[in-house]
Amino acid sequence: MKICTNCRNVSNDDNMNFCPLCGAPLAALQPAPQPEVNQFYAEENYPKPSLGLKITGMALSITGFSFLLLGFFYTLIGPMEEGVAFGMAFAFSLLFLPLCIVGMVLSNKCQNAGDNSAFSRLGKIFGLIGIIIAAVSMFIGFVSLAAI
Ligand SMILES: [Zn+2]
Repeated sequence: MKICTNCRNVSNDDNMNFCPLCGAPLAALQPAPQPEVNQFYAEENYPKPSLGLKITGMALSITGFSFLLLGFFYTLIGPMEEGVAFGMAFAFSLLFLPLCIVGMVLSNKCQNAGDNSAFSRLGKIFGLIGIIIAAVSMFIGFVSLAAI
């Protein structure tokens, strides 16, 4: 493609040297710069997760973690209190393990979408620790049951 240096008329015929409209010399037309495709997809198709989603993920993980930690201590003292507190440990794990799992999944989703905030990082860490605490509680619980 060529463009007229005088009237800016664009010609598709590259063999033409002079403008058919005004007769001025034609110059080679540089192709328009292409938009950055990767940047387009990053900005438009994968929007950053909302603050609400990040805080929800972190809040679920920390809430689940807190109660699972409480349940863990019940598990430790459980056998001394005739199995009552011990049963509580299982109830805690069943009720609050899902919070940690959902919190961790949400936080992980935020991170995968390009978020690197403290909310997502804490949500993932507390969710993971909560899941480990629940697993240890269950393990101690089963060992204690088998020992009875
Ligand atoms: Zn011209």
